[in-house]
Amino acid sequence: MKQLAVLIVIILGFSCRPEPVTEYDLIISNVNLVDGTGSPLKEAISVGIKEGKIRALAKALKGRSNTYLDGSGKYLIPGLFDCHIHTIDYQKDFPKFVHYGVTSVFITGGSLCTDAYYAEMREHGEQDSIPSPRVFHTSQHFSMEGRHPSKTYPSNTWRDGESIFYLKDTLQIEGLVQHVSQFPNIGIKLTIEDGPSPPFVERMPMAFVEKTVKEGEKYGLEVFAHVSDNVELEMAIRAGVQNLVHFTGIDIDPQDSVQVKLLAEFRKRNPSWITTMMIDKSFIYPLYPEWFTAETLLPEYRAQSKRVTQKAKWFASGYLNFYKESYGLNGDDLPTLMAPQVQDIQYLYDRGFNMVLGTDIGGDFNFQGHSLHEEMQLLEMGGMQPLEILKMGTLNAAKMLRVDDELGSIEAGKLADMILLDKNPLEAIENTLAITTVIKNGKIQQRRNNK
Ligand SMILES: [Zn+2]
Repeated sequence: MKQLAVLIVIILGFSCRPEPVTEYDLIISNVNLVDGTGSPLKEAISVGIKEGKIRALAKALKGRSNTYLDGSGKYLIPGLFDCHIHTIDYQKDFPKFVHYGVTSVFITGGSLCTDAYYAEMREHGEQDSIPSPRVFHTSQHFSMEGRHPSKTYPSNTWRDGESIFYLKDTLQIEGLVQHVSQFPNIGIKLTIEDGPSPPFVERMPMAFVEKTVKEGEKYGLEVFAHVSDNVELEMAIRAGVQNLVHFTGIDIDPQDSVQVKLLAEFRKRNPSWITTMMIDKSFIYPLYPEWFTAETLLPEYRAQSKRVTQKAKWFASGYLNFYKESYGLNGDDLPTLMAPQVQDIQYLYDRGFNMVLGTDIGGDFNFQGHSLHEEMQLLEMGGMQPLEILKMGTLNAAKMLRVDDELGSIEAGKLADMILLDKNPLEAIENTLAITTVIKNGKIQQRRNNK
């Protein structure tokens, strides 16, 4: 009996002992959370971060930290992904992405993108003391001599076998795919393109596209194809391509039963499709001087208005006319111009295509970090909901890159990449630019001076 009493005392003693208080490296308290999964906003959440990861999310978080961020009246969203960029100077470009909350980028080839240059950029993206997004990338371009992109952007840094692969016959593809499979490439970048500008050339033969898809399957490497019109879209789908890196130039007609059937076939592959509407906006930027005055632009971006030459304006008006004609549009304002593309993107989104945001940064008037926010605004102008747009820039991107187990949303166990905002992004998507703090890997990142 005495022994039983002792036992009871011991048990009671244990259960009364105060729970150990968890020590966090950082706590963001009492914030409005938009977690990136597409779920509605949750109010008054506290987030506990430790060793770079989100450890706990709760209304009443038990724990303490030496570093607190007061989230009262603020909004927390996941770090953003720009899933179509190019760079020829990553040390200069990367901090600008982080300034705007873009904590991950997907590089889809480029004239400097040798295996060694990719490794250098990845390494830069892995650290968290110098501002840099995490770096994901495709293989080098699989293209052909005299075709896009080296035709469009001539440079002596396009080197066959190093920064680009010029396919000459199908036999060569086996070895090239085997080579790229040895590196952490997300997939194979392949270009099906007869332009994009005159003089037009012959497109890559179907046999080359099919062979690349087939060889990629041996190593679990999907193809990320560049297409820029409906003919190329059809080629890509018929050849078994799994992902598309552009939307520009595609026109979906829900009344076209052949196309609808083709897209349904494509959908079965769980494809990802990157938007890149910023291409169109950047091409016509020279015609809209007021765009350069946005307060959210870094001074060096605003200063690019000085680079608007007569030639740039001439090119821009040519493109604007071509664009309006191809969609049969009358107005020159962005909502009118973007509506046809956004309607198509919404159509695909609603049918379960994994739609992902990208900008094709690399050309003029397409601004590292800032233009991802412009891309989001273009989608909203065309009628998409902020919640959907944010998911395209976060969780959908992580899914495409096969890292959704650790990135893309604010959930316990994931890496702590996030942005604290002063305004509600669900009220207007431009509020994603009201950034107060950018966090990568649980660490507050250095932002630029915006004066
Ligand atoms: Zn590109």
